[in-house]
Amino acid sequence: MEHERAADPGPVPAPRATRIIRAALLAHGPQSRAQLLTRTGLARSTVARVAQSLIDQGVVREISGPGAASSRGRPPVLLALNTAADLVGCLVLSHRDLRAAIVALDGTILASVDASVDPLDSTFDLVGRGEVMLRTASATLDETAIENLLGLALAVPGPYRPGVGLVGVQELAAQVRGAHGGRELPPWMTQDPGTELARRLGVPVVVENDANMAAIGEHTAGAASDARSAVVVTVFDGLVGAGLILNGKLFRGALGMAGEIAHVSVVENGPLCRCGRRGCLAAVLATTELSTPIDGEEPSLHLVDVFSRAAFGRPALLPALLDATRHIGKVLSDLCIWLNPETIVIQGLDAQVADRVVAMLETEIHARAGHLVGQATRVLASRLGEDARVLGGLALVRQHLAAQADAD
Ligand SMILES: [Zn+2]
Repeated sequence: MEHERAADPGPVPAPRATRIIRAALLAHGPQSRAQLLTRTGLARSTVARVAQSLIDQGVVREISGPGAASSRGRPPVLLALNTAADLVGCLVLSHRDLRAAIVALDGTILASVDASVDPLDSTFDLVGRGEVMLRTASATLDETAIENLLGLALAVPGPYRPGVGLVGVQELAAQVRGAHGGRELPPWMTQDPGTELARRLGVPVVVENDANMAAIGEHTAGAASDARSAVVVTVFDGLVGAGLILNGKLFRGALGMAGEIAHVSVVENGPLCRCGRRGCLAAVLATTELSTPIDGEEPSLHLVDVFSRAAFGRPALLPALLDATRHIGKVLSDLCIWLNPETIVIQGLDAQVADRVVAMLETEIHARAGHLVGQATRVLASRLGEDARVLGGLALVRQHLAAQADAD
């Protein structure tokens, strides 16, 4: 016999109740209707109605619970997310392009759209462009796929502090004015783009620095997945950065700037860096021009280009490659002494040369960091490449939804 609940919490708007139930199933796995009732505090009628609606939509399915039978001798019926129907959106902004991806909960990237952009252009509308690209990507799956988004992750190319926005905007403004002839900053740099994206799409949005997002991706689904401590180095678009995983978690530091290895000083009184100081790793890699251009490519190549491209088999470029390896290896060997990480993952290497570049870096790190420290650290090439940031975004959204479900 059914008993009426004494205190009905009252009606909760259907979209919110739907989100609460989906987040609870995502965070805690398959559950019975009774368990959902206790966990969410929603009214029995609301749970019943939303559950049936989700089953009808194919978002949730009923499965038999394990082990203990109910009082009537049958296994309990549990509600489980049909993971193919639950989707997470990811926007990855780099220095040259914007990628919108739709990802299933199991990490399958179902759709992806790319566009070349200039993120420093004052007219660049990250929120508007991102929304359109997400809708385009999801429309390739299904007209209603955008409605099944549980959340959205946004990776930005700069240090980002959750709840505050980009760190060091004033310094960036000076750089942008210098590089773009006095133009103002685009809105995504001065206002938190996560807030407006959340309003437009009606889902929670998690924003993170791109190297940090890549580190989370490697830690959850890539080369660092069995490591408690890892340094994930990104060498994309001629820029170098890193994300740190310490004790199994992303380490952001006080301002979200932990791992900004681009601005570690490697040459005393070296070339001027865009940060205003001299001799930073980024400046040395980006401003040291090679005397020998790679055949058929642009004449002005820099050290960072040989590091990520097929420089092997071209003896003339070997000195430059050794130079790049020496500078990056110095910074990483210092990091090894500070942090003693289990794994260093290098992202952005040309697949044809990745293993050899990694072997060179490992030799450099072992030589500089000392036998014990060096031997403790594996240096690996990323298997995920640019997908690491998308998969890191998925992991961040899942963490966010789980925390939200626990708080509700
Ligand atoms: Zn610098």
